[in-house]
Amino acid sequence: MLVVLLLIILSFFVAIAWWMFLLPVLLWVIITGVGSAFIFTGYHIKTYCKNTAVKDRKIAITFDDGPTPETTKVLDLLKKHNAKATFFCIGSQIEKHPDIFKAILDDGHTVGNHTYSHSPKVGFFPAQKFREELEITNGLIEKYSGKKSLFFRPPFGVTNPNIAKAVKATGHYVIGWNIRSLDTVIKGENRLLNRIKKRLTPGSIILLHDTSQKTVNVLEQLLVLLEQNKYEAVTVNQLLNIPAYEE
Ligand SMILES: [Zn+2]
Repeated sequence: MLVVLLLIILSFFVAIAWWMFLLPVLLWVIITGVGSAFIFTGYHIKTYCKNTAVKDRKIAITFDDGPTPETTKVLDLLKKHNAKATFFCIGSQIEKHPDIFKAILDDGHTVGNHTYSHSPKVGFFPAQKFREELEITNGLIEKYSGKKSLFFRPPFGVTNPNIAKAVKATGHYVIGWNIRSLDTVIKGENRLLNRIKKRLTPGSIILLHDTSQKTVNVLEQLLVLLEQNKYEAVTVNQLLNIPAYEE
């Protein structure tokens, strides 16, 4: 916006084409739009999307939008393959399936905050309303785990100044990903697995959703693939060396 102001001042002295005023505004809109939509840019808040410093073959599998009845199948597979994962849970889903939520914790996985409502409008919530979403869900996590969650994953990967303000107040680490499986969009299981396979590198954070049988099937193949390639699936806190809960 400073650029526009400078241009206005400058226009008193030299002739400036009208579109010159539009250009910086347009650039700002594009940069802010991209920064808000793509979590890896860390445009509004510091986000943790991978650990490039990892030397051994470690990766973190994350599941969003649970707990759901599918979560139970996910837990069985993880146990069978001796893998650990991180579950970013929706508060209202924890209320619906408290036993499944407790099973995640009992199996030694990490849980994080994924807002209370996961409303498609969360990106438009004022900071205070967004903060309440985080606090209610943290209350539910604490109720069942006895721990105060420090991990937050933004729904749809969207961040903006209001979300940044809310997160600053609650003190959460914002956890993103560098491998988006698109498991809620892509229909073919092979295509999904190949998409992950192509992007797999040590230190990666993979985004999946424990909401469909399709993802359960893909997970089964992914865990075999990881074993064949000597990868170890760890929690996000282990991968990034940051605490998932308040001490
Ligand atoms: Zn989500």
